[in-house]
Amino acid sequence: MSTHEEQKLERSTTETSANVDPKELSKFDELARNWWDKNSEFKPLHDINPLRLNYITSKSEVKGKRVLDVGCGGGILTEALAAEGAIITGIDMAEKPLQVAKLHRHKSGLDIDYQLTTIEDYAEKHAGEFDVITCLEMLEHVPDPSSIVKTCRKLLKPSGDLYLSTINRNAKAYLFAVVGAEYILNLLARGTHDYEKFIKPSELAKWLRESGFTLQDLKGMTYNPITKIYKLSQDTSVNYVLHARF
Ligand code: SAH
Repeated sequence: MSTHEEQKLERSTTETSANVDPKELSKFDELARNWWDKNSEFKPLHDINPLRLNYITSKSEVKGKRVLDVGCGGGILTEALAAEGAIITGIDMAEKPLQVAKLHRHKSGLDIDYQLTTIEDYAEKHAGEFDVITCLEMLEHVPDPSSIVKTCRKLLKPSGDLYLSTINRNAKAYLFAVVGAEYILNLLARGTHDYEKFIKPSELAKWLRESGFTLQDLKGMTYNPITKIYKLSQDTSVNYVLHARF
């Protein structure tokens, strides 16, 4: 290998492993043991899971299809998709949530391939393999979310489906997702979310377009603190989920 090639390889390795924020991962490591406790900080993920599972399965066949769950954490969505018959891989960069996911997989008797890897590294060997990719509630925790979108494109089969969800960035989202959820309702652990990392739907739509995706649908996931019910709506001002295809 020439020195030039070596330098290139070194640079690309550094680049691909750079899209991780260790502070974010340690937050999830610390909380991991509570992942499947429906009354813990993870209650909101358990509560919205039927809603998001239904959103995905009403638009995409997952039974017998190759599905990748990016930033799978303890496996709440991953297991639900496996139970629907998906041939599923879950990837995450935090070790403890993945350990929890692996243990829980046995309890549930489900067949799931869990890998500790970044999506960028994973894509080196698995380009074009997936029918469906889900990346929910994860983009707001990474340094370069546009790279995640671009890499999803690389991993999908032609006309594959991509599902993303994250949090909008505006005063209302700050009030609801940070002040409300973390400080008033105590739904989430304090420090779970950094406002600056929230993503406007227009920004995500731009990254999708730049990667060759077409936005198929965009919905709000709204939480009513009085009824304690989440539902899909046209209100994307706080939490939202989208479907894209290329
Ligand atoms: N998608 C899951 C978990 C959301 S919590 C669900 O919605 O149920 C966010 C997850 O993203 C955590 O498990 C965290 O460890 C993971 N994460 C953060 N940065 C990551 C990165 N760069 N690569 C992979 N996973 C990451």
